[in-house]
Amino acid sequence: MSAEKSFVRKPQTYNWQGPLSTAGICVLGSLSTGQSVTRNLYRAGARKVNLVNVDLSEKESGYSSSNKSEFCQTIDAEWTIANIEGFVQEAEIVIDTLSDWQQKLTLSDICMDSEKVLIHSGITGFRFQIYTMIPGRSACLRCALPVAGIDQVPLSPTGPPAIDAVIELVDAWQSLEAIKYLAKIGIVQGNELFKFDCLSGEFEVIRGLDAKLDCPDCGRKIGRLKRSS
Ligand SMILES: [Zn+2]
Repeated sequence: MSAEKSFVRKPQTYNWQGPLSTAGICVLGSLSTGQSVTRNLYRAGARKVNLVNVDLSEKESGYSSSNKSEFCQTIDAEWTIANIEGFVQEAEIVIDTLSDWQQKLTLSDICMDSEKVLIHSGITGFRFQIYTMIPGRSACLRCALPVAGIDQVPLSPTGPPAIDAVIELVDAWQSLEAIKYLAKIGIVQGNELFKFDCLSGEFEVIRGLDAKLDCPDCGRKIGRLKRSS
C-alpha cells in the first residue's frame, strides 16, 4: 500500500482562464482547419480570438456566415503581406493552421519581424510536426525545418487533405502550447520541434533549435523578446 501511495500526486491547481481571457490570439488558416483550435481556446477561457480565414475558395464552396465559429471572431481576408502583418501585430500569439507551405514560411518571417510568438504546425498525411517559435530565442522556421529534416517543403498545398482525426490532434497540441505559454504554466522551450507519425506511433523531439547568429531573421532578434514573469 505504501508503495502505491508514493505514486499518488497531489493535484495542482493552475490558473489559465485569467491570462487567456485577456490575451489577443490570432489563428490563421481556414474555417475548417482553425475551428477546433478556437473551440479549445474558448472553452479554456480565451475571449479575444480572431480566426483569420485566408482560404476564400472554401467560403465560396459552401461555407457561409452560419459556418462561422461561435467561439471567436471570424474574419475573411485575402492573403497579402500587409493584411497578415496587421493581424499579427494586433495579437499576442499567432497559431498557424495554414495548409500552404509558402504561407507558413511567410508567416514565420512576419512573426519573427513583429516579435510575436508563433505556434507552427505542419501536416503531411498521417505525420505532423509542432514548433513554438519565440523570437529572440528560437530559430526561425526557415532555419529550424532543415535541422529537423524537413527541408523539402512542398511549393503548393498538398492533397488529399489530412483527415480530421490528425487535424484535431494537431489542434489540441497547438491549443495546449498557447495555453501554457500565455498562462506561464508548464514548459515551452521555444527550441524544440515535435514530430509524430500517427501510423507508426514514432515520436521524435528535435532539440536545440536556437536562433542562429548568422541568420538575418532569427539571429537579428536574439535577446529581443523578454517574457515577463
Ligand atoms: Zn533563422
